[in-house]
Amino acid sequence: MSKHVLITGAGLGALATALRLSTDGYTVELLEKNKQAGGRLNRLQKDGFTFDMGPTFFSMSYEFKEFIEYCNMEMPFRFIELDPLYVVNFSGSSRKYTIYKDLKKLAAEFEGIEPDFERKVERYLKKAGAIFHDTEYTMVKRNFRNIREFAGVVRDVPLKHSPMIFRSMWSELSRHFDSYEARVIFSLVAFFLGDTPFATPAVYSLLNYTEMKHDGYYNVEGGMYKIVEGLLKEMEKRGIRIHYETEVQAYSEKDGKLDALIDQHGKHWKADLFVINSDAAWFRGKVFRRPGFSEEKLDKRKWTIAPFTMYLGLDTKVPGIEHHNYFLGRNFEQYAGKVLKHFDINERPYYYVNVPSKHNPDTAPPGKEAIFILFPVTDRRFKPDWSDREEIADRLLQDLSERIAFDIRPHIISSTILDPSDWEKMFNLYRGSGLGLAHNLGQIGYFRPKNKDEKFNNVYYVGASTVPGTGLPMMMVGSRLVTQRINDEHRTV
Ligand SMILES: Cc1cc2nc3c(=O)[nH]c(=O)nc-3n(C[C@H](O)[C@H](O)[C@H](O)COP(=O)(O)OP(=O)(O)OC[C@H]3O[C@@H](n4cnc5c(N)ncnc54)[C@H](O)[C@@H]3O)c2cc1C
Repeated sequence: MSKHVLITGAGLGALATALRLSTDGYTVELLEKNKQAGGRLNRLQKDGFTFDMGPTFFSMSYEFKEFIEYCNMEMPFRFIELDPLYVVNFSGSSRKYTIYKDLKKLAAEFEGIEPDFERKVERYLKKAGAIFHDTEYTMVKRNFRNIREFAGVVRDVPLKHSPMIFRSMWSELSRHFDSYEARVIFSLVAFFLGDTPFATPAVYSLLNYTEMKHDGYYNVEGGMYKIVEGLLKEMEKRGIRIHYETEVQAYSEKDGKLDALIDQHGKHWKADLFVINSDAAWFRGKVFRRPGFSEEKLDKRKWTIAPFTMYLGLDTKVPGIEHHNYFLGRNFEQYAGKVLKHFDINERPYYYVNVPSKHNPDTAPPGKEAIFILFPVTDRRFKPDWSDREEIADRLLQDLSERIAFDIRPHIISSTILDPSDWEKMFNLYRGSGLGLAHNLGQIGYFRPKNKDEKFNNVYYVGASTVPGTGLPMMMVGSRLVTQRINDEHRTV
């Protein structure tokens, strides 16, 4: 008889794990606290507009292809390569930087700003590419069962990369580029890890290689939620059920194993094996009550930046703005030093603006525009009260209107604001941290909360705060790692 696996949560990591396990012969069921699947990869539909709530960049498409092949299914959504990738605006200048994958075209964007750009960027990306290929299979895409295994792998990483472990991404960029603009633009990938380039190890320059050379970014046709819809359709075909509005709050154990998870109504959900897609650190503390993951201990860990997000429907098209845009200032180092701990409403904000209706016309009615603003802010450890959110939103809109020389405020016909406390409540994200635990040296590889529980032999984890880390492609990798582990330890079919 096939083993019964119960997954807590229906984020991308959970959906991918459910499909992999069902391919391998397990019977799978999911519990989700919300009315809708997808977790952070979610969708908001309001007043005729459709917004992706979180992720807007689809990258490392080969990880999705590997997943599709593993599960013997067709790619359930369409994606088209973006080139240019995005546009960057700096305050105090009308010059825009369009970021092309084609390095000759990109070099033209930096003319007069960064001499000898093409040679410098080739050199930088070559080094970043070497790190990517030297660590992809040895460090990122594997399970570590003990510290010895991890230490062995670290020892085998070519010695030439070791300074990149201790140097910051910003310091690495400063060795390659002279201009403020080039340094800042290439450091934006640190935000994909939810941190600033000053605190992110230089090894993550490998993300520049993946965005510029290896694979790039894609537009998912019809919006990012098509990924979730596609996976849900396949799950339905296979009879994998999701029980919505079911929040796991407690547990019972028997003979040293997890016996059942208990929901908000007291119902016991039993299974042979359990996979937790709720945040791997939060769940260990809040539900399993492990002392090592108490609030006091979690507060001391390093968490990624929290999102402050706005979803706007406008009664007109907006000029001077592209699909993916960054609006930045000229004091990055000073700003980044503050942003994680000291929110200051008077500080000129750095933010990202996405206009899905530029490439996906169905997201707004004809002649209208859907706009998503993502403003990375301090998490709730440092700013617990967000009752000033309307004021923050007004400042952001004023700043954006000034920068694009078009006052969007009179055109807003639909508005939704989510601050870090909303994100925390919606998906049980610790203190509203948007991307889970940070990726500093003490919290990656063997040192990240593991995908196998410390106490219960029948409990596993998948998602942003366990291995390998955050981001949609890493959910594909994480689902493979946890499936491998379950198969190694429990497969009988
Ligand atoms: C604003 C924002 C922008 C982002 N942009 C990008 C991007 O452009 N590209 C990219 O690759 N990545 C991006 N990310 C990161 C990406 O969204 C995440 O890394 C990924 O979606 C995490 O998936 P997950 O499997 O960890 O599940 P989650 O999304 O965390 O889902 C977990 C699910 O578990 C449910 N749950 C939690 N606790 C319980 C419980 N006790 N009982 C039942 N259910 C529970 C939650 O409701 C949720 O549905 C972004 C994230 C944010 C917040």
